[in-house]
Amino acid sequence: MNKWVKRSKKDFLVFGSPLIEQAEIDEVVSCMQSAWLGTGPKVAKFEEDFRAYKKADHAVAVNSCTAALHLSILVTGIEPGDEVITTPLTFCATVNAIIHAGGTPVLADVDPLTMNIDPVEVEKKITPRTKAIIPVHFAGRPCRMDALCAIAHQNDLVLIEDCAHAIETEYHGRKAGTFGDLGCFSFYTTKNIVTGEGGMILSNKKEYADRLKILALHGMSSDAWQRFSDEGYKHYMVTEPGFKYNMMDLQAAIGIHQLTRIDHYWQRRQEIWNAYNNLLRKLPVTTPPEPEPDTRHAYHLYPILIDEKKAGISRDAFLSAMNNQNIGTGVHYLSLPEHPYYRKTFGWVPQDYPHAMRIGRQTVSLPLSAKLSNEDIEDVVIAIRSSIDSKKHRPKKQF
Ligand SMILES: *Cc1c(COP(=O)(O)O)cnc(C)c1O
Repeated sequence: MNKWVKRSKKDFLVFGSPLIEQAEIDEVVSCMQSAWLGTGPKVAKFEEDFRAYKKADHAVAVNSCTAALHLSILVTGIEPGDEVITTPLTFCATVNAIIHAGGTPVLADVDPLTMNIDPVEVEKKITPRTKAIIPVHFAGRPCRMDALCAIAHQNDLVLIEDCAHAIETEYHGRKAGTFGDLGCFSFYTTKNIVTGEGGMILSNKKEYADRLKILALHGMSSDAWQRFSDEGYKHYMVTEPGFKYNMMDLQAAIGIHQLTRIDHYWQRRQEIWNAYNNLLRKLPVTTPPEPEPDTRHAYHLYPILIDEKKAGISRDAFLSAMNNQNIGTGVHYLSLPEHPYYRKTFGWVPQDYPHAMRIGRQTVSLPLSAKLSNEDIEDVVIAIRSSIDSKKHRPKKQF
């Protein structure tokens, strides 16, 4: 497969489609030929390469960011009834992980411009039961880590960063995922680098890293990772009831090569991000603010806001209009209180988190994969223009 194969106008532009190149295809094939598919040397290499890239002390590969979040919350010793503060503008996995780890999720609204959790709102939500904060670097834009670290420090709270959008993110010279106690990453197919499914946990504490490895593989003592090598049979000892969250060599085979191109892909997404900024400037949609000084945005998502009063089309009609023009888009995210389970279980109401609610009801993520050609970008912009212009989408008069 050639990455420069042009998309025909008839083809649907798939949102978040990753760029897969020959080196990872060859590595996967060699993995298949060696018949070593499970956790082994390629996972160890991917962990080490990722750790070095992030300048972290320890890295533990797992099979998703959801698993990474679940285990990270568990190792911090959370107890039933402990509260964990996070953002309402995130993927459901962030709060599901809190729930599965036995904690009680508490939401703090976002800043309306950066779409990141607002430290002022976090402080309002702290109670004697608060145990941890999980900021999400939304779209790849870093949260205000100076304020969040200070709050965590003053209140003796654990800080776990959800870096699913933020592999390349930096804040004041420091890399996302290394501010708090633990940082969780995703290599899901739409993320900045991919392994199909996959995740990574960074920590500066060796005790955490050691226990994470055990928890990720059934709770078996750490020797179990070498259980299938040729060093002779080793008994494993189960020290606690763990999970089946280990990454496979087959997955790491992809990640090792994706990681070598991370800056190259980042540069391409930055070009696309800037192109959208220029091309959409005059349209009645809200584009993302510039990255803040002394930060590095990971350019994972390019969210625009469709305000029906300005654009003359509702967000949902806009999504359909784009789809009808063969452009795949995303919604990141309906705010969590919109979902029935959380409303029912925690009594959350969207109106209590007004910024996240409004963003969730107006946002549309445009394609931002490094795979996009310049023609693809033009196609997206043409489709946006015609979706907004088409009179048939104008709101009907009431009477
Ligand atoms: C994708 C994502 C996750 C979950 O990642 P998986 O690897 O798919 O489990 C968690 N949090 C956020 C913010 C995400 O975007």
